[in-house]
Amino acid sequence: MSDTGTAIRESAPAAPDPVLSVVIPVYNEEAGLPALFARLYAALDALRTSYEIIFVNDGSTDRSAALLREQFQRRPDVTRVVLFGANCGQHMAIIAGFERCRGERVVTLDADLQNPPEEIGKLLAVMDAGHDYVGGVRREREDSWWRRAASRAMNRLRERLTRIRMTDQGCMLRAYSRDIVAAVAASREVSTFIPALAYTYAGAPAEVEVAHEERAAGESKYSLYQLIRLNFDLVTGFSLVPLQLFSMFGMLVSALSLATYLVVIGYRLFFAEWRGAANALWDRDILTFFLIGVVLFGLGLIGEYVGRIYQQVRARPRYTVQAILERDPRGPGER
Ligand code: UDP
Ligand code: MG
Repeated sequence: MSDTGTAIRESAPAAPDPVLSVVIPVYNEEAGLPALFARLYAALDALRTSYEIIFVNDGSTDRSAALLREQFQRRPDVTRVVLFGANCGQHMAIIAGFERCRGERVVTLDADLQNPPEEIGKLLAVMDAGHDYVGGVRREREDSWWRRAASRAMNRLRERLTRIRMTDQGCMLRAYSRDIVAAVAASREVSTFIPALAYTYAGAPAEVEVAHEERAAGESKYSLYQLIRLNFDLVTGFSLVPLQLFSMFGMLVSALSLATYLVVIGYRLFFAEWRGAANALWDRDILTFFLIGVVLFGLGLIGEYVGRIYQQVRARPRYTVQAILERDPRGPGER
């Protein structure tokens, strides 16, 4: 992690760690940020606990960084801003927040107001009941029908292939205990999916229904291609079952081929009149194309894993920090 940037620090009396940290990744959200600020701070003030908000600007090319700087000036007591040098992805932005947050409990949230900040209290209430991981489940999800259908299908596949049980993998409104956040931050994974990674460290996970709204402003930052990539990450990052399925399939095909061979030869030798039927059913070209398709898919799948290994061994910094805006929590006189 390269903290090459300058930190702007103001002097303030030493403050104890807050109870709650809220981590928000921001990528080109200038249109929606003012509305987010208005609702988020009001909702958190209403909770009557100490909190901090960590905005991570994921290399926005619009005015988002400037708006975050202004907001830091307005509420420096509870606002911290991490500015990335480049776009490193939503999940890396959250990791950067996790590595710096000080709260006992950490809540993640999207910047586009699709996750209403007023629902944070609901997650915290479930944590009060003794859970260390609370996932939001979007009631009446406000997204296009094809995204809802695709997520449902991918959700089911992931449930089968991994041990991760999440009703709504796409909902980023989630609360984590300090220990889970520390474990996620310590995981050196290059491309990951935080809700799933955190789940693997959870002792008592729970879920709660939360509201979901249409994007307040701007457009989704995810293209169809990125959504497909994300789902590959979700499966190959947490399970080896796809690779194992391929060896299983290979064994099955070999066994079936042998059986078919014996049957066809038997017919040819002993039942001349069956030969026509065997010829009609047996189309080697089509079967060959099918098997080539399967083999190419398997090759690509191995490529997914090899690609992950390659990214991991290169061990490049996962993100670059340009600047951090925060007050020095230790107060004046200590630095
Ligand atoms: N985001 C980010 N980096 C990216 C893409 C998205 O930090 O490369 C942030 C974005 O600003 C938002 C959240 O991640 O706060 C979710 O993005 P978006 O709303 O576009 O995703 P969707 O809701 O369409 O799944
Ligand atoms: Mg969104």
